[in-house]
Amino acid sequence: MPEISVSRQAISDGLCRLGLTGKPVAVHSSLRSFGRVDGGAETVVKSLQEICSTVLMPGFQCAAKILPPPEKRYRQNGCDYAVHFDFVNPPRPFDVRTAPLHPKMGIVCHTFAKQESTLRSYHPWHSWLGTGERAAEWLAGHPWETTSRPLETLAAAGGFVLLLGVNLASCTAVHVAEERAGRRPFIRWAMDTGGVIREVATSGCAKGFEALAPYCRHLFRKEQIGECVALAAPVSELIECLAPVIRSQPEVTRCSLNCLRCNDAILCGPLPPDRFCA
Ligand SMILES: [Zn+2]
Repeated sequence: MPEISVSRQAISDGLCRLGLTGKPVAVHSSLRSFGRVDGGAETVVKSLQEICSTVLMPGFQCAAKILPPPEKRYRQNGCDYAVHFDFVNPPRPFDVRTAPLHPKMGIVCHTFAKQESTLRSYHPWHSWLGTGERAAEWLAGHPWETTSRPLETLAAAGGFVLLLGVNLASCTAVHVAEERAGRRPFIRWAMDTGGVIREVATSGCAKGFEALAPYCRHLFRKEQIGECVALAAPVSELIECLAPVIRSQPEVTRCSLNCLRCNDAILCGPLPPDRFCA
């Protein structure tokens, strides 16, 4: 059978059927999941911008990898201090205007990031990209001691999470649910543009999150767009629904028995400074 190309109209129609007209959305996507799309990633971005009032996407950089001195190292912090850090000297400052997106961010995110109108929040690990009505306001405040602040703001404003051909393992809102369940974010370190090395809150491993699907399936609307299975849910309800599940069954999010980040997240994250390594 010849492959049918998905049009911008088909994507826009699908977004409307999901109830996203005029709504703010946080989008996680796989372009490949659609099959072929007329105009590629740009078409997906334009459809989102046409239908939704504000569009956010992760523009994660994962740049906070400066090795801290021994007397500042948290225990139970989802890392091995001998391995998981950049040993670049002197360390480079993080500048969100020039920092590239992490290569693992999909092509839709990379395309969105290149648009002139796209804004980006100043966070060396969990930066968010955005356009539309509320983007400037929501991306302005992204303190390094928080992980997903722009997403939490979108949640509080009644926004939706949209999964285009991806599952909960790509859904940042689950990390917010982890924090609500009592898990402390992991701490990493980055240098700001003033040359000061600061702590940065970061989220843990998401590889096991799809195991939460049975607990929140009822919150998702589902539509097929081309070959893509598109799922949309209200972010705030999703967080409210998953936090108690994670609290009562912490092992549910574990990806494997030997994952350092899952192990420490299940133990509720880094221990306080009086338990520092040195
Ligand atoms: Zn893991």
